Amino acid sequence: MSPNMLDMIRFDDLETAFRYKTDRELKFAYWLFKIVGNPTLVKSGKFFSDLALRLRLPIAWLVKPTIYRHFCGGETITECMEVARAMEEYKVHCILDYSVEGKDTPEDIQAALDETLRTIHNAAQNPSIPFTVFKPTAFTTEHVLEEGSLGQLSNPEDIKESERFRQRVETLCQTAFKLGVPIMVDAEDVKFQKMIDQVVTEMMEKFNKERAIVFNTLQMYRRDRLDFLKESYEKALAGNYFLGVKFVRGAYMESERERAARMGYPDPINPDKPTTDQMFNDGLRFSMEHLDRISVFCGTHNEESNRLLTELIDSKGIEKNDPRVWFSQLFGMSDHISFNLGAAGYQVAKYLPYGPVRNVLPYLIRRAEENTSMAGQSSREIEMAQKEYRRSKERKE
Ligand SMILES: Cc1cc2nc3c(=O)[nH]c(=O)nc-3n(C[C@H](O)[C@H](O)[C@H](O)COP(=O)(O)OP(=O)(O)OC[C@H]3O[C@@H](n4cnc5c(N)ncnc54)[C@H](O)[C@@H]3O)c2cc1C
Repeated sequence: MSPNMLDMIRFDDLETAFRYKTDRELKFAYWLFKIVGNPTLVKSGKFFSDLALRLRLPIAWLVKPTIYRHFCGGETITECMEVARAMEEYKVHCILDYSVEGKDTPEDIQAALDETLRTIHNAAQNPSIPFTVFKPTAFTTEHVLEEGSLGQLSNPEDIKESERFRQRVETLCQTAFKLGVPIMVDAEDVKFQKMIDQVVTEMMEKFNKERAIVFNTLQMYRRDRLDFLKESYEKALAGNYFLGVKFVRGAYMESERERAARMGYPDPINPDKPTTDQMFNDGLRFSMEHLDRISVFCGTHNEESNRLLTELIDSKGIEKNDPRVWFSQLFGMSDHISFNLGAAGYQVAKYLPYGPVRNVLPYLIRRAEENTSMAGQSSREIEMAQKEYRRSKERKE
């Protein structure tokens, strides 16, 4: 074996990967991924959960001890802190993600704002929580984001609401800035993203003068995002501020393609998976070459991209725990990546979604669908949970 091979990060150390899980939890993970790997079961689960939500049937008793427990930290910040402390013991940090979706009354928006502010204050007091995050669609109506992105806001009430959106985002970023906690803005459907990009860029200009506090998210499945990254870098250079970038591949491929076909505009998504992989990795390469100006947050369950970033850190000769480079996976997925990165000394944090069970259901359905559509992902999780469960049982016998 070459010395390079010896230095390479390994993701197959399952004992390290699952140290914080009990045998019961491992066995549960195995069954869960078996279920979400089955498209018929996921489809019927989606149908029944939609029905239960519409009829306001009580479902928390079924969902909370099962799929919710696997993918979420709890209903409140306090409940999540127990999970955060358990992961911290193994050098994996977490990011509290208030995952309530699809609510846009003024009361819902205010409640989301208050809760996100609480997550920022909480992170400021807990070194195990290095970032905060929010979904911009929680802070205005879809109508305003869509019209704003098309540059078609004309109704005075819509214009006022778009200004309120900007102010809400500024309240969050300013609080994060004052408390010194970096804040990430999730990326959403293409139809909303232009207005989000404009507001987030404005926030970076304002609050990233000394370091990256505000991070935008780039979905590298979009054909235009590598160019957008380069333009954002040029803008940051010209404006003398730091660029915070969270890289993801993108979560809405099917609906984006379906919408483009229905409305007759060019598909905004790359033609195939290898192109997306190439763009994602090129984005990492570009940012690491400009680390003096860009902070990198790499959100992926893809082993190759995670490995590439460890190699880029190594070849640049910077510390593994350089504060400008972070790895991240979602809670309940790819522990073999997160815990092995943490054990090797890299900075890693898992997104820990939380919120009332009913309101988090759309997030849970998305996770189930994502694992179904990526057959490889769920079979990888099944195989690992099964292997480690067997190994742990053998050790005890
Ligand atoms: C920490 C974290 C934060 C996240 N935040 C966001 C966010 O703010 N916004 C968001 O949209 N998503 C977000 N995601 C989800 C992310 O976009 C991906 O859906 C998910 O992580 C799967 O991609 P991957 O890189 O992990 O895995 P992989 O299995 O390597 O990649 C799967 C992804 O590749 C792309 N892809 C698959 N097939 C094709 C194809 N035929 N053509 C082109 N591209 C294809 C799709 O994006 C698909 O999701 C986040 C994920 C993580 C881990």
